[in-house]
Amino acid sequence: MQTKRKGKLWAFLVLLCMLFQLAPASAGMAAEVSEEVINGEEHAEFSLSEIFESYEHTDPAEFYEGLAQLAELAADEENAEAAKELYDKLDTIYGKAYTMRVIASIATRVDATDMKMAEEDAYNTSLLNLMRDRFCTTVKDILDLPGSRDIVADFTDEDREFFSSYEEMTEEQLDAVNREQALIQEYSIKQLEAAAATVEINGTVVGFAELEAAAAAGMIDADTYYAKHMELAEKQNALLGEVYLRLVKVRREIASLYGYDNYNNYMYEAYGRDYTPDEIQAFSESVKTYLSAPYFYMQNLMDWNAPCLGLTYDENTILETISTYLPQTSVELQDAVDHLISNKLYDIGYSDVKMAGAFTTYFPYYNTECIVMQPNFNTYDLLTMVHEFGHFNANYQKGSTSSLDVAEVQSQGLEFLFMEHYEDIFGDSAPVIEEYVTLQQVYSFISGCMNNELETWAYTQEDLTLDALNAKNAELLQAYEQMQAGSWTLDYYSKLWVQTHHFFLSPCYYISYATSVAGAFAIREVALENPIAAVNSYLAVATAETDQGFSEVMEDAGLGDVLSPEQIQAVGEGLMEYFNLEQRFKEKFFPDQGEPQTGEPDEGEPDTEEPGQEEPTPAPAAPNTCHVRSGDTLAKIGKRFQVDWKEIAKLNGIKAPYKIYAGQELILPENAVLTAEKIIVQKGDTLGKIAAALGLNWMVLAEQLGLEAPYTIYAGEELEFIY
Ligand SMILES: [Zn+2]
Repeated sequence: MQTKRKGKLWAFLVLLCMLFQLAPASAGMAAEVSEEVINGEEHAEFSLSEIFESYEHTDPAEFYEGLAQLAELAADEENAEAAKELYDKLDTIYGKAYTMRVIASIATRVDATDMKMAEEDAYNTSLLNLMRDRFCTTVKDILDLPGSRDIVADFTDEDREFFSSYEEMTEEQLDAVNREQALIQEYSIKQLEAAAATVEINGTVVGFAELEAAAAAGMIDADTYYAKHMELAEKQNALLGEVYLRLVKVRREIASLYGYDNYNNYMYEAYGRDYTPDEIQAFSESVKTYLSAPYFYMQNLMDWNAPCLGLTYDENTILETISTYLPQTSVELQDAVDHLISNKLYDIGYSDVKMAGAFTTYFPYYNTECIVMQPNFNTYDLLTMVHEFGHFNANYQKGSTSSLDVAEVQSQGLEFLFMEHYEDIFGDSAPVIEEYVTLQQVYSFISGCMNNELETWAYTQEDLTLDALNAKNAELLQAYEQMQAGSWTLDYYSKLWVQTHHFFLSPCYYISYATSVAGAFAIREVALENPIAAVNSYLAVATAETDQGFSEVMEDAGLGDVLSPEQIQAVGEGLMEYFNLEQRFKEKFFPDQGEPQTGEPDEGEPDTEEPGQEEPTPAPAAPNTCHVRSGDTLAKIGKRFQVDWKEIAKLNGIKAPYKIYAGQELILPENAVLTAEKIIVQKGDTLGKIAAALGLNWMVLAEQLGLEAPYTIYAGEELEFIY
């Protein structure tokens, strides 16, 4: 057990170095811990602040001397016991240095202004790379020597394989890895610059925040608002995109220096994934096919302003809620809850200097972990805590898993199981919150696959340009039905990929959000049928061995092949049914369709012809309306119907910044000029294609044309509709 855990630490250090670009702050002394803690049999009982205080600068001299001594001892079988003792000691020193590195990196997340810890972090990053490299090389060299007898006796086959195939980094590899690290540093700086980008409006320099404020105050019109947003997006895209192009180049170089012809394959290996890029391609196709529709419906049905989504929770309420309900989900979670709370292993209050987001981190030397969260002051804070606790519990049970995908099932799976307490916690709002959380999870499928396709493609391009990358992103946004062709929004969003940190900091990571959510949905499906079985599957995932691969863990937990197209199809159909999406969508957006009108007068309706009313004409039964196309602005719509756009805004109660949404129905002034549009169906056309070309939502177009499923249209047919 012990050796296995440590073996993992060695094997995955390079990866972790790439994932964490962070740093910490004081110069105390690493706390002494017991043998049991070092062996992973017990957890150190420290609070997070005690862990921070225990930070110490690592001097590698003792470690390097020890390695030289180990090489000498290994030559003779007589020294086998002494060699093993020294090996364990060095292992512990390394684990401690590694843990200091983790502390430094978290401390800078908790306090982004701590420059001293930022320096320590940079120091640790390169130091640990070197320490690890020397350790692995030494162990490789002594593997077959007689004095290593006791060391090797504790190894698993995988440990042996790992060390015997270990290759010392060449000068070239080291150089390339350092250049990658330098680019990541450059990115961190340019990212701040990009966030502070400005544009000029009538001689005044404004950034993102001022632009929003100006629009909200009605100081700029909708067209200016959109145009300036676009200008800012273009600036960011150019600034960060250029760094990304260089990163792609050096990463391609790294892959080739390690003997891979494809960077993706190299990273799949580094992440220890037990599924292949080919399987992911099939998986991504099924996500496109089966999940675009439920996602579209759910997103349009969601009341984003529902008050129940904006509840704020203070630290105590969050801790109280999770400690009440998590043990109800499973009594097996009780110990980890107690460990978290009694040791204060969390930092979840708001702080000006804390970085946004939430994460859970494991400190190997202390065999303990912590949760850090910057609250957003909405309902999701509570649910984020449940997510992070899923990570916390898994770390508590077995230490940090080497599979990112498994780790996320450990958290997302718990989020689904936690839904059984929603009614107790949220009362009547429970269904809305359940749908909201589920929608976020469905989006993980889409964003995971979409972002993965973008970077997978990028890493295969020999001479990548920014224009090509933006164009590819636009293509993908359409393929996943997030945006429609020819729209302003498509052009705008195609440039926003530079805002995704993972492309820069954690290459090829994104797919793990989609694969893991597939695992979480498999747990959800079981839960709907048999809650006890679902808890058991979840616990099996939460206590998986730390070196097990994703597909293996899913199979072992009885969840089957969660990435298979059949499974994704089942998820999509399950969502449509469970949330009654089609029916509700029709009711919300096409309320006139369906039930025939009875013709009976409505009882209790107030008389429309009130005396003294200024406008004598009663409102027409079917007022002039239009549907917003993607890329539309109120100004454009006004032009199209030859009316003042401000009139439209007023009629529909739309205020600055005049946001409108594709598919939204707008009431038009009575003097609007309605024009019928005619389209001749071409060979190969589908309703979706035509709608996309028009920048219309296809459901809206089908409604306009009076078409119903399966929405058959014929080449040569003339389609006429008012838009
Ligand atoms: Zn997570």
